[in-house]
Amino acid sequence: MITLKSENELAIMDRCNTIVLGVIAEISRMIRPGCQVEDLDAHAAERTRAAGATASFKGYQGFPSTLCVSINDQVVHGIPVARTLEKGDIVSIDFGVHLEGFHGDGAETFVVGETTPEVAALVQGTREALRLGIEQMRPGRHLGDVGYAVQTHAESHGWGVVREYVGHGIGRELHENPSLPNYGRQGQGTRLEEGMVLAIEPMLNLGTPKVSLGSDQWTVTTADGQPSAHFERSVAITSAGPWVLGSGARPGEILLDLPMQDEVVAAVGGGVS
Ligand code: MG
Repeated sequence: MITLKSENELAIMDRCNTIVLGVIAEISRMIRPGCQVEDLDAHAAERTRAAGATASFKGYQGFPSTLCVSINDQVVHGIPVARTLEKGDIVSIDFGVHLEGFHGDGAETFVVGETTPEVAALVQGTREALRLGIEQMRPGRHLGDVGYAVQTHAESHGWGVVREYVGHGIGRELHENPSLPNYGRQGQGTRLEEGMVLAIEPMLNLGTPKVSLGSDQWTVTTADGQPSAHFERSVAITSAGPWVLGSGARPGEILLDLPMQDEVVAAVGGGVS
């Protein structure tokens, strides 16, 4: 079953995602060569509390942390263990919060310092794939249109599209129906309707699409050890077009820039810091 959200519920989910994207933006300003991955997780935990929210991932099926931090060949679900970021790393920060009965979920990949042109192109291209997918998220389009847009962009550059992990509906539950693959056929799959909210999250690999699961039973890595990039936004389907929740943009305007002003997090949650 797919749960449609009311206008009031979408407003709550917009606030959830404002916190998500605000915290990811804060973390982006901490990322530099020499920074400690555990410090990023601690910052996110503190800011989640300050906003009066709870972390969606911590404790989810036993996941131990506030953030998923996936570095280089790690695709998704990396656990922020003791590690120092080095120049040339790429790091995906995936973060979700629960507030007023609803979840928000988003992710962004950052380059630490600078990296090779081909890895920089993968990161930029994955962000572009996210935008192209979101562009399809309108009433009357199909899930397959969204996946097709992501897949064709990725494969035109020779990048691998991860098959085993996909986007998802989101609302009162972190993962709701339907699943949203990053591949598909035009006009196929569930028809999109006003009130649906979907977390779209392209995961693109520089090399093979194949992935494997680490011994911690969480961390997903590329099978060939080459880098992977990951971006995610929670998007509502509205009559005006896709609404990128938490972006500050109106429905129909696709804004992927992270909010850069300080204090957006506490302001939304209304909590004390
Ligand atoms: Mg997600």
